[in-house]
Amino acid sequence: MKKSVEEYVRSIPDFPEPGIIFRDITSVLQDADGLQMAIDEMQALIDSDKVDVIAGTESRGFIFGAPIAYNLHKPFVLIRKKGKLPCETVSRSYDLEYGTAEIEMHKDAIKPGQRVVVIDDLLATGGTLEACDKLIEELGGVVAKNVFLIELAGLKGREKLKDYEVASVICYE
Ligand code: 5GP
Repeated sequence: MKKSVEEYVRSIPDFPEPGIIFRDITSVLQDADGLQMAIDEMQALIDSDKVDVIAGTESRGFIFGAPIAYNLHKPFVLIRKKGKLPCETVSRSYDLEYGTAEIEMHKDAIKPGQRVVVIDDLLATGGTLEACDKLIEELGGVVAKNVFLIELAGLKGREKLKDYEVASVICYE
């Protein structure tokens, strides 16, 4: 019988710290069926008629976002860590468990009014995607949906993203 995409996710206890179960997606990517299922099932959560642009977050959001944009024949734009984009940017800082992080987008990545679907591999606390969504809005874009392969429901990312649509393929409690 064909495996489900969930069966390709590898769970690593105590990484990167004791007590954390890291959901590893490299085991999904390194299987041809797993890779195809992950992309197809994330793509199925998107209504192509209601989106103008696909945005991917560095770095695992790029892996899933680009093929989905290609399949739907939509532009693909990058949300990158600070200091990587060469043209004029807008940026946003957000809190991590320890310290802060900063993300950037090119100012011309999104035109006012464009509907944007944001792709990342995993929703944990929602801090990363909240910053991404706010950055897209700062550029005049409309966040149509946040799409993930995996959601860690116990960390309540959906509450942080309550103003936005959220969809995920796999959900862990
Ligand atoms: P958040 O901002 O929602 O707390 O964290 C989500 C970000 O952390 C995502 O960009 C995701 O790639 C990364 N992340 C956090 N925990 C995990 C995990 O268990 N597995 C993977 N693959 N990524 C994680």
